[in-house]
Amino acid sequence: MAYEKLELLIDGEFRAGSQGVSEPVYNPATGEVLAEVPHASSDDLDKALAANARVSKEWAQKTPLERQKVIEAAARNLEARFDEIAENLTIEMGKPLAEAKIELQMGIDIARWYGEEGKRVYGRLVASRIPGMTQSVIKSPVGPVIAFVAWNFPCVNVVRKVFGALAAGCPITIKPSEETPGTAIAIGRALTDAGLPAGALNIVFGKPAEVSEHLIKSPIPRKLSFTGSVPVGMHLQKLAADNLIKCTMELGGHSPMMVFDDFDAEKAAEIAVGSKFRNAGQVCVSPTRIMVQESVQDKFVDSFVKRVEAMKVSSGLEDGVNMGPLVGERRLDVMDQFVNDATSNGAELLAGGNRLNKPGYFYAPTVLNNVPKSAMIMNEEPFGPVAPIFTFTDVDEVIDEANRLEFGLAAYAFTHNPAIIEKLSNNVESGMLAINSIVVSTPETPFGGIKHSGYGSEGGIEGLEAFLVTRFISEVH
Ligand code: NAD
Repeated sequence: MAYEKLELLIDGEFRAGSQGVSEPVYNPATGEVLAEVPHASSDDLDKALAANARVSKEWAQKTPLERQKVIEAAARNLEARFDEIAENLTIEMGKPLAEAKIELQMGIDIARWYGEEGKRVYGRLVASRIPGMTQSVIKSPVGPVIAFVAWNFPCVNVVRKVFGALAAGCPITIKPSEETPGTAIAIGRALTDAGLPAGALNIVFGKPAEVSEHLIKSPIPRKLSFTGSVPVGMHLQKLAADNLIKCTMELGGHSPMMVFDDFDAEKAAEIAVGSKFRNAGQVCVSPTRIMVQESVQDKFVDSFVKRVEAMKVSSGLEDGVNMGPLVGERRLDVMDQFVNDATSNGAELLAGGNRLNKPGYFYAPTVLNNVPKSAMIMNEEPFGPVAPIFTFTDVDEVIDEANRLEFGLAAYAFTHNPAIIEKLSNNVESGMLAINSIVVSTPETPFGGIKHSGYGSEGGIEGLEAFLVTRFISEVH
């Protein structure tokens, strides 16, 4: 099948960069070059911003219903190319096709949800203390948005920003990852074919630091939305401060998964394996510190390892595959570092711990048991298929450990004990907490972190709110 034609989208036109610079995009399952992604020159970036500025008022003044119609048409365009886009996503990112389809469907659902919710941006009337005065609180689009996103969800990361901004009445310029550009371009085509006005969405690529610096220094953007690592998020926030650009930061995580002894340990292991190795562990909300209450450790670990050993690791396009490659060669070295550091600190290696001897960037699903807290993997985000397991004795100890790091994205707990659930709900420092499930992301609920995992939410009414400003109008009749 053909890979998406890689182009920039600037002011309604799909085209190459004006300086002819590009970089290769690789298929991580084979290491082969798929295509070249064009870089936007400074001139291209200025044109993109100028187009956003030009169309900003027109898009903001459309009725929410008019915007929803464009969004709905784009959702249908994505559905019409569903299989093709899902396959493209697998080819450029590596995740199994079944996961790519789930991601694309989730993207379409999020797009539709934002389109519909845009109709429900309400204000309020506040009783005045001055006779004859009406006081209205209204919500207005914040203005042009710039966004930068990671490669691990080439569809959903883009959709959350693009459709959130558009539904709220804001134009947007997005720089998706240069590693996974095809899915973003397919989304851009779905929107332009749906009748989105030229300039309401620009898609640019280039050297990330140069693109972001150029866009942030312009006086045009009013909002920055970023999905990526903590250090890059901190850097972008500093740059944004110079123009007082509002930010939403969806940053890294190091999610604790807490398995209590009243919960079926084998069931917990089944859920943990499915969630840990989804997208080869390259998920910001991936369970990373797997903590099991002492009395069920052996049962949990045995079941976990058996399931890991039964996993099929191969190209995401093959039937029955459970895990694909990592996104790039550089990630393989990082996994080796995490594993070697843990074992030299005393952890037991129960499965994996090596790259697979075949083309592409495959790493064996890896299980480390009794990992000490001093190990690198217990402190830094591994973002890969390595599962560190260790034990705890009681709820207070596990909460202390869950809160030990500066990350605060997602947390998971498996227990039916109401007192423990209440304690966890009140004390675990995370933006999202799932009890007896791994569901933390739906179109209609807020997704986001606290502490160094960032701030602001995507999804839910909070996700739309992120692209709005609150204004107060008083009027004497
Ligand atoms: P990264 O921060 O290095 O890169 C993320 C994206 O930002 C990429 O597209 C990259 O090209 C771009 N980027 C890098 N430097 C930039 C700069 N100076 N200016 C603008 N853009 C820049 O992160 P990564 O390692 O590629 O991605 C994984 C990280 O993303 C993990 O930490 C993961 O947890 C996080 N993530 C968070 C969420 C969330 O919603 N909280 C979702 C997905 C990924």
